[in-house]
Amino acid sequence: MQRKALIITIVNLLIIISCGKVKKAPEPLHTHHSPPTLRMKKYFTQGDPLQVLKGTSKNPLSFLKESELGKFQGFILAAISNFQEKSPILLQDSITTGNEPHGNKKQNKIIDNEVYSFKKFTEGDSVYYALFSPTATMRLDFKVTNGLLQLISVKDGDREYAISEIHHYSLKADGNAFSFLFHFYDEFDNKILSSLSFSKDAAQLIIKPSLNHYNFIFRNDKKIRWREEVVELNICMADNHLAEYVRNIADDSMKLWTFRIPQQDFRVKKLDTFPPFSDLNAHCFYTVDNYLIEEQVEYSVPMMTIITPLHSKNKILDADIFIWESEYLKFNYSNDFFRNLKTLEMYHSPTISHEIGHFLGLDHKFDGTKSLMSYLNKDCVTPYRWKPNSIPYLCQYDVDAIRDLYEF
Ligand SMILES: [Zn+2]
Repeated sequence: MQRKALIITIVNLLIIISCGKVKKAPEPLHTHHSPPTLRMKKYFTQGDPLQVLKGTSKNPLSFLKESELGKFQGFILAAISNFQEKSPILLQDSITTGNEPHGNKKQNKIIDNEVYSFKKFTEGDSVYYALFSPTATMRLDFKVTNGLLQLISVKDGDREYAISEIHHYSLKADGNAFSFLFHFYDEFDNKILSSLSFSKDAAQLIIKPSLNHYNFIFRNDKKIRWREEVVELNICMADNHLAEYVRNIADDSMKLWTFRIPQQDFRVKKLDTFPPFSDLNAHCFYTVDNYLIEEQVEYSVPMMTIITPLHSKNKILDADIFIWESEYLKFNYSNDFFRNLKTLEMYHSPTISHEIGHFLGLDHKFDGTKSLMSYLNKDCVTPYRWKPNSIPYLCQYDVDAIRDLYEF
């Protein structure tokens, strides 16, 4: 009996996993400082960061026609997400700041008040364009080939990075946002996969701030959320048992949350072919197999959600959820119970529901409030949480927060 109780306690800790960190060891690791590369959020991955793109359908063909550049003037930089490789050797002594629960936080800075425009220049017979803002340190350079602008380098401050390969161009269906996905090597020869999103600016939208201390992503005093009539979360995975499992749980979880906000239509749909995370038209649930996030080795981050906001309109432009399958290997369990636990069974529905909470615009709630958005969310799920069919439900805070965010 005692042994069983112990196991249940440990399992309780496990499902605290969310985009979630589960602390493995208490010892603090010393901080490794490295200079910023393309500012903003950096996710560390073990080995080649291009594995994040595995299975995706890329489109490396630019949509930027020289003759139509007028359409793309006056955009603002909405988000940058970088995936950087970290060698196993670095893992031993690196590691970082203590309190960054997941991907959203470093994007917190508001960067979308810098207006970018294309400016032409020539060098010999070649035509180039620079996408820049007079008030920003970032600058993108393009070369015109067959009437199309191809991104060739990115400048950040006094550093310039030649692009090794463009993986994906995306233009939002309404023409109001676009993104580039590419990789390059920084001055330390780190391979970096980078996504840059630009969006058309508009007048500041004034929204009544939440007075109730709900934790919304990025800023509690602004309601950054979906503002489209129909929002689709796509299951972007190879056709297998895991995809089917995630689809079912995601579907249930989405209904669980959005039952509270019926004025907006949220759907979950499986896609057979799907673009990379940088694509602004597809909001995806991806798996990255045999792969690690090594931002903090003492934590496991089995799932995370990346959100691309448009602060000036208080809206989410794009959001994608990742399952990092190899993160589970960090749990070096010494008893048979865990050794026999299949990885699949650890994709707990409470964790997926937690990520969908992020997807919809909620941040963590770590002040002891009962919430799916805490890591101690055992109050909001049925007791058999280590079973795949465990059932999460919304705690009162979750109901109140999602209704406040969507003003219903
Ligand atoms: Zn989380």
